[in-house]
Amino acid sequence: MTKDLIILGAPGAGKGTLAVDLCPRLGIKHISTGDLLREVIVSGSPLGQEINGYVKSGALVPDDLIGQMIKDTLNSADCKNGVLLDGFPRTIPQAEMLEKIMTDLGRPISAVFYLSVELDRVIRRLVNRVSCQKCGKPYHLINLPPKQSGVCDACGGALIQREDDKEETIRKRFATFIEKTQPLIDFYQKQNLLVEIKADDDPQKTLAVVLKYLAE
Ligand SMILES: [Zn+2]
Repeated sequence: MTKDLIILGAPGAGKGTLAVDLCPRLGIKHISTGDLLREVIVSGSPLGQEINGYVKSGALVPDDLIGQMIKDTLNSADCKNGVLLDGFPRTIPQAEMLEKIMTDLGRPISAVFYLSVELDRVIRRLVNRVSCQKCGKPYHLINLPPKQSGVCDACGGALIQREDDKEETIRKRFATFIEKTQPLIDFYQKQNLLVEIKADDDPQKTLAVVLKYLAE
C-alpha cells in the first residue's frame, strides 16, 4: 500500500536524519519542498518557468503553483510507493489544498510525524558546534573537542560558531516554528493523523518508533 507521510519538526529535531534513514527502507521518496522548487526551476518546464518568475522577483510562490508542483511529483514513477513530505504544508490553507490533492489521487495521508524537542536540549547540542574557518572541519566542544581550544587539529585554522548555532538565533527560530506550526499540529490531531515523537535523544530510537507505528 502507498505510504504518504508528512514530517513536522523544529530546526534541530532531526528531520533530515530521519528522512535519510526511513525513505530507503520504505521505498518512498523524500520530498523537501525547497529542493523540489529548485529542481522544477532547473527543469525549465512551463511550471518551472512560472515559479522562477516569482522566485526571481523575490515574491512568494503562490500556493496553487506549489500544489501543482507537488501533484506532478506525486504522479511520477519514483513516488508510486509513497512520499515523505518535508517543508510542506506550512499553513492551514496549504494543508487543506494538500488534502484535496491526495483525495483526488486516491492517496489519503497515512500519518503526520511530529518530532518534538525540548528547546534547552537543542540549545545544548547546537551551541557547542563549531567548525574550522579555513577547512570547514566540524567539531563539538563536548563530544568532539579539538586538541587545542579554538584551533583546528587538521590545519591550525580558527574555530568559529555559525550564526544559526548561536543561542539567541536558535531561540528565535524555535519560537517562530512553534507559532507557525501549532495550527498544523492541531489540524492533524483533529484528523487523528498526528503521531508525536519525542525526538530528544537517539535518532535510531526515533526511527524505531516510526517503523513500529507504520507496521501496526
Ligand atoms: Zn581546519
